[in-house]
Amino acid sequence: MDPLLLPVAGLFITVYLTIIFFSKKNMHNQETKIYSKMLIANLIFSCLPIIAYLIAKKTDLITIVMLLQKYHLSLILLLTVYSILYNINLLDLKEKTVNNITKILYYTWTIFTVLIIILPHTVINEGTILDNYGMAYDVAIAGLIMYLIALIITTVMVMLRKNFNSKKTIPFISLILLYIGGLILRVYMPSAIFETFFYSFMLLIMYHTIENPDVKMIGQLNLAKEHAERANRAKSDFLSSMSHEIRTPLNAIVGLSEDMQKRGNCPMDMKEDLNDIVNASHTLLEIVGNILDINKIESNKMEVSEMVYNFKEEISSLARVQAARIGDKPIDFTIDIAEDIPYELYGDKAHIKQIINNLLSNAIKYTDRGNVTFSVKCINENDKCLLIISVKDTGRGISTENLNKLFTKFERLDIEKNSTTEGTGLGLAITKKLVEMLGGRINVESKFGEGSIFIVQIPQKIEHLIKPMSDTQILDTAKVQLKKRKEKTNYKDKSVLIVDDNKLNIKVARRSLEPLEFKIIDECYNGVECLDLIKSGKNYDIILMDIMMPVMSGETAFQELKKMGITSVVLALTADAVAGAEEKYIEEGFNDYIAKPFSQDQIKIKLDKIYKDKSDTTTEDLTENPTLPIFKEPLDSKNKVQSKINEDKLLESGIDYRIGLENFGDILTYKEMLLSWIDESDERILRIKKFKNDHDLANYAIEVHSLKSDSKYFGFIKLAELAYSHEMKSKENDENYINGNFYDLENEYNRICSIIKNYIK
Ligand code: ADP
Repeated sequence: MDPLLLPVAGLFITVYLTIIFFSKKNMHNQETKIYSKMLIANLIFSCLPIIAYLIAKKTDLITIVMLLQKYHLSLILLLTVYSILYNINLLDLKEKTVNNITKILYYTWTIFTVLIIILPHTVINEGTILDNYGMAYDVAIAGLIMYLIALIITTVMVMLRKNFNSKKTIPFISLILLYIGGLILRVYMPSAIFETFFYSFMLLIMYHTIENPDVKMIGQLNLAKEHAERANRAKSDFLSSMSHEIRTPLNAIVGLSEDMQKRGNCPMDMKEDLNDIVNASHTLLEIVGNILDINKIESNKMEVSEMVYNFKEEISSLARVQAARIGDKPIDFTIDIAEDIPYELYGDKAHIKQIINNLLSNAIKYTDRGNVTFSVKCINENDKCLLIISVKDTGRGISTENLNKLFTKFERLDIEKNSTTEGTGLGLAITKKLVEMLGGRINVESKFGEGSIFIVQIPQKIEHLIKPMSDTQILDTAKVQLKKRKEKTNYKDKSVLIVDDNKLNIKVARRSLEPLEFKIIDECYNGVECLDLIKSGKNYDIILMDIMMPVMSGETAFQELKKMGITSVVLALTADAVAGAEEKYIEEGFNDYIAKPFSQDQIKIKLDKIYKDKSDTTTEDLTENPTLPIFKEPLDSKNKVQSKINEDKLLESGIDYRIGLENFGDILTYKEMLLSWIDESDERILRIKKFKNDHDLANYAIEVHSLKSDSKYFGFIKLAELAYSHEMKSKENDENYINGNFYDLENEYNRICSIIKNYIK
């Protein structure tokens, strides 16, 4: 092999590397600096043996050859020193230690270089061989061995690091292996000049593993992303605990001040202060709510919850509430809702209202005089309705350069002007995200100093284009009244237990519950006390269970209650209103969840909803209300009342009557069969319960099997699924599962029964 082959190949590699490395934009860190020094040193280093060889073979200038060889030896040492320094920088040592090691390495290299220059050196120039020996050469070899040992040690130290990245050691391990290979090669090929090629090869590997600017940039980006994600998680955790901390005292402020305001028995001069407290606490609640909303949206926990609703009705009442916020500002508030908006829409009512509320409250907030116009138009096509909502004001307007910052969270514009106006800069960020979540678009046009117009387009489904023809006006009103009265649950015969370690919270909860006239309202202060009360024989219809409590948490207590077979309605009561909390509690089996602070209305709505599902209303309530004498006739008249729940409602409630129709042929037979099924429903659930309590799983399996079959036949989809899993588990003798999930089965059973009772009435 030609002795120049390897050095020339090495030179090519190093020229190529130097060009691409310096032509790219590089990161400015210590390792990269060392790498660039290595490249330059190696460029010179690669040229030397080639020049020395050519001079030796073509001329008699042996002294120059000797000097070039000495220089070459010194550069080998320098390159090995750089390799050690590179490793040292990967070790995260203290800056001072790194500086000291660097100094020691440079000092020793200088000493070696001086020795190599002054000590005698002999050039061997025979045939194709160009070699050297003598004291200078021996010193260089001693230095190289010393540095190689240091390189091995530092490479091992890099490998032992906590976040060891194997890529970072590949180049040096290769260099060490190449050296070992080189020594063996020397024995068989004494004329080979391999050092420069080895170093160039190592630098090439280094480039493709750790020093390629692109690879490095990606690494740095990933690191930055990881940091950002960690910071974001920390922020979410902080928000979660902050919401808890803020909501607990807010619970007391909102609850007690509203209660005092309702009683109205405080002196006149205090009344105004009280109103201010109530308003301020609502504002604070709104701010906490906004922060929680943005957290929910960012963690993708915000859900679209669709339902049938009457758009005009909902929006008019919302606009009325907003109009009241104008106070004594000279503003004309105009509402213009198009006639052709469908009677009932299907969509996410709550979020649409939140969007409109945000836009209207901004328009009113940032307008001192003139007009605020709220208009809704629509484009109806087949069963789709595109709502076009616009909110126009003659307020302060937004400058062109501020328009693109508008939807950025925490961004408040014109800070000086804004300083007296309340706000967090979250409203529009949330609005935009909600609009996008609902598949819509938001646009804004504004002239600074003249006013703004926000236009939102949201697609909805049409449920009923016009009021259904079958409903006459009177029956329609009767239905609304009937619905209202049916939802009015009588709590006089019900008992409730509040479990909370915070006495102030209990006081507030009591205030909210007292107007509902419960038979008993008891309290206790942690999970263990709650279980003790139940074990002592007490029975509660409703349990309000705080989550975070000393001794035993609400979640543990609830699981214990479930194991004991308690069927009370249990509401999780917590200030932990962050993203995902609600779903978590429902998943655990709580009937519902209520975030502190809650108002009288909220707790009532939740309880009414649960009891409406359970259909636990008193019958006299339906007929004996003296305020509705005019409706007595339609209510008693069987034909008309029947229409209060129809097949569509069955479908909405998860009962697929179409399956029933297929099985029973016609609606009359279906109803007849349902009637006989419902007649036996009380006995059936008692039997199922008895077998469960007697641990008679064989009979339990038979019962739930027949329940499953009936449910499938009638189209009770969820009940069929639940009964099926109970059947399977009872066959496997999995009593834990049955006890742990019985509550869900019973709940669904009762829900179905109550819907059916309403339907066949
Ligand atoms: P907030 O109102 O809580 O400050 P928003 O996100 O709702 O937060 O609004 C962000 C900023 O946009 C506001 O601080 C205000 O400067 C500006 N802005 C929003 N709506 C209007 C409007 N109708 N007229 C003028 N400026 C507005």
